[in-house]
Amino acid sequence: MTAAPRPILFLDVDGTLLPFGGPGMPSAPGPPGSWTAASNPHLSRVDRNLGPLLSGLGCELMWATAWMQEANEVIAPLLGLPPLPVADLPAYSGDRGADSLQWKTRALVRTAAGRPFVWVDDVIGQVDRGWVEADHPAPALLHQVEPSVGLTVPDVAVISAWLRELPAAG
Ligand SMILES: [Mg+2]
Repeated sequence: MTAAPRPILFLDVDGTLLPFGGPGMPSAPGPPGSWTAASNPHLSRVDRNLGPLLSGLGCELMWATAWMQEANEVIAPLLGLPPLPVADLPAYSGDRGADSLQWKTRALVRTAAGRPFVWVDDVIGQVDRGWVEADHPAPALLHQVEPSVGLTVPDVAVISAWLRELPAAG
């Protein structure tokens, strides 16, 4: 018997772990450097309770964010997470390309390489769901969150329930 590969959990930062667009918040992150600075006051909106919950899901956690390595420097310590692998993404040049795909979709399917995955992001559309369904042979959960709220404990419960339904090792 071969053990089923461990699912990957792709984590977005802006609008997911770091809510934005709510009261007193800009509608989008500022320029690179300003937003990712450890002194950014908006970082207080990161829910530190999420770290242990995400760790407990049994997935391989992986950053899927334009923050790239800076997520390990700034966000991981806030959540009590160790440095995580960073998904190799193309340079950000807008949420969606000319083909309407979210800018990360192709890269995440490639990175998953046939393993089951969960992707939490505030920008997910039908085009992305269709692409993953057609191009990814294993189960995938594309879980969209509301950017002004970000990822919540009930979201993590939904992800956990989905993971429990995955086919067992075999
Ligand atoms: Mg985002």
